[in-house]
Amino acid sequence: MSALIIDGKKIAAGVTERLKNLVSNLPAGEIPGLAVVHVGDDPASAVYVRQKERASREIGIRSYVHKLPESATQDELLRLIDKLNKSAEIDGILVQLPLPGSIDAEKVIAAVLPEKDADGFHPANVGKLWMGDETVEPCTPKGIMALLDSTGVDMSGMEAVVIGRSNIVGKPISAMLLSRHCSVTICHSRTKNLPEVSRRADILVAAIGKPNFVTGGMIKSRAIVIDVGINRVNGKLAGDVEFETASRKASWITPVPGGVGPMTIAMLMSNTIQLAGLIHSERGE
Ligand code: NAD
Repeated sequence: MSALIIDGKKIAAGVTERLKNLVSNLPAGEIPGLAVVHVGDDPASAVYVRQKERASREIGIRSYVHKLPESATQDELLRLIDKLNKSAEIDGILVQLPLPGSIDAEKVIAAVLPEKDADGFHPANVGKLWMGDETVEPCTPKGIMALLDSTGVDMSGMEAVVIGRSNIVGKPISAMLLSRHCSVTICHSRTKNLPEVSRRADILVAAIGKPNFVTGGMIKSRAIVIDVGINRVNGKLAGDVEFETASRKASWITPVPGGVGPMTIAMLMSNTIQLAGLIHSERGE
């Protein structure tokens, strides 16, 4: 039997539509503002920044892109963040990563006010996430939770395996699955017997950055499979999961493209509106 597809494009469009309606009913003085800080010339970052601007326009929130050259110093960047922290027009601040090597990214992330941290990367917000307190959740894992919720499956008590331990995906999605009462195992490049561990998963999240790494043989029959990977193979996008073999084992699966990717930007918009005090932490489900 072939897996049902979790259609991230459609679910993200639904979230966007709802946020757009919410913003269209606001008086002009209450329209949320998002500042996107983009340092340097990384071409992928330029694409992401443009996508964020486009999404802001579509929803009707104000977006301010601050472009600094590759040569910008850490002090210049920190001064800009300080200005944005103090600006009444700005509800959310996002610093596009990666930053040039001369800049200490951790210091920059920590300089953003936690109350304006649109990415949910500030240590105070990360701490709250692990404590199970309401906070601003990082966009990609927040999108993944919305995708999981869209299946209608009760996650409580399920065995979840996350492959990848990055601060932007692997660790936060593990905290969020834990807060939904899953038993969570976090795997990484040094995990021994990975296929044995991954075959235990009722929910398997692959955030590795290696094309087609997770094959059908690594998946438990009827598992829900979330493919976070975005890899380029011969000019085409490929996930971390080998879709063809995996979809024969899974009950639900996200495609690449059209799965997790579209949710990330929708959740950034949701976070900005949340930081403006207009909604609680919501996943659009
Ligand atoms: P990362 O490079 O920071 O982390 C990769 C993780 O994979 C590491 O924790 C590493 O231990 C683990 N890993 C590497 N090789 C492994 C192996 N052989 N076995 C087990 N684990 C292994 O990556 P990231 O930033 O978390 O991103 C992961 C993937 O998700 C990338 O393809 C990235 O492009 C994609 N991504 C997509 C979105 C989206 O919006 N869809 C957002 C963020 C990241």
